[in-house]
Amino acid sequence: MERDELLKLDREHVWHPYGPMPGALEPLVVTSASGVRLRLDDGRELVDGMSSWWAAIHGYRHPVLDAAVRDQLGRMSHVMFGGLTHEPAVALCARLVEITPEPLRHVFLSDSGSVSVEVAVKMALQYWRSRGRPEKRRLLTWRGGYHGDTFQPMSVCDPEGGMHALWRGVLPDQVFASAPPVELETAYVQELADLVERHAGELAAVVVEPVVQGAGGMRFHDPRYLHVLRELTLAHDVLLVFDEVATGFGRTGELFAADHAGISPDVMCVGKALTGGYLSMAATLCTERVADGISRGEVPVLAHGPTFMGNPLASAVALASVDLLLGQDWRAEVARISAGLRGGLAPAVGAPGVLDVRVLGAIGVVQLDHPVDVVAATAAAVEHGVWLRPFRDLIYTMPPFVSADEDVAAIGAAVVAAAAASR
Ligand code: PLP
Repeated sequence: MERDELLKLDREHVWHPYGPMPGALEPLVVTSASGVRLRLDDGRELVDGMSSWWAAIHGYRHPVLDAAVRDQLGRMSHVMFGGLTHEPAVALCARLVEITPEPLRHVFLSDSGSVSVEVAVKMALQYWRSRGRPEKRRLLTWRGGYHGDTFQPMSVCDPEGGMHALWRGVLPDQVFASAPPVELETAYVQELADLVERHAGELAAVVVEPVVQGAGGMRFHDPRYLHVLRELTLAHDVLLVFDEVATGFGRTGELFAADHAGISPDVMCVGKALTGGYLSMAATLCTERVADGISRGEVPVLAHGPTFMGNPLASAVALASVDLLLGQDWRAEVARISAGLRGGLAPAVGAPGVLDVRVLGAIGVVQLDHPVDVVAATAAAVEHGVWLRPFRDLIYTMPPFVSADEDVAAIGAAVVAAAAASR
């Protein structure tokens, strides 16, 4: 299809995420991708500084992942998961149980991060119903969070500054604590304790993004807050749900963000990098206690069953992606990228208009003291041969773990240039 025709049809018929944005750049047309590079229709190549939104940790067209999909395609691309089972999904679930924090034992496969959070909430609500406590149906979360775009996840996203403020009054009414400070603060610990104690009788679960609050503001916080939440939730009979859709699979420097604190939630969501970004799949894991509680209820099954649950192609590539990650010294790769980002973003520290520069694992963030000029910032990054997707006051990157040192350097330079262009 000719470029003009493609863009015309795109404008006329195609919704993009949170788009079309008034005044935004025309979308770039990608024709192929391999390694860490996106190839555009005009021949330009861009280093992907976004890993396609936290997902493509091994880059594109990785031979091992390509082979896993091809091999599975030769056997079966999809079958329903109700009443049938198959090795790709079973092997993946067993592997996820093996690598996630210890008491997580049961895995519900779904097709997106948002749905994995819906399922987590449903598990928590159904657990309390089964135990004769239907009044425990509210969720406590932190302001500044992001958990997806369907209704339960939206209800625990940031209620004011976030993307879902539009839905105030329609969403389930949840309990919000302030966003966690970077450092451990006693006053904030007390705020959490007061809220959990006050609302324990109506709380089904505390739902948070551990260590990194991503799309709600790219904030990092002390992992000791996870300990605090674990103790409070155990003491007050509330479930603890960690949304690791963005942080899972090594991104923060530990395999899961919960590992920074060495604790385990009752329910955990993973997605994005689960399949190395190849296919849409997410998973919700829970403990024996939660699964057993649900199975003793009036409706003794988890009442959820997506058509594409356990898709064999996605399961096979997810297992291959996890094995590929764990079969290498991924900690060293993430540490290398972390060091590259620290060096690369250093020129932004103290630059005019820059409020903060922070790096954790393979995540780099430049926060401005004003809203990003998205068009100018994106154009500056593209001129530097890098794909970035700034939002609000943030220019950020989470490179694929296979990015070479020169790629990380190019990404760092592009983030700095994007910040300068947005001044
Ligand atoms: N949870 C977190 C922490 C996320 O960052 C996201 C997506 O950015 C989601 C859930 C939703 O995932 P998906 O876009 O796959 O529905």
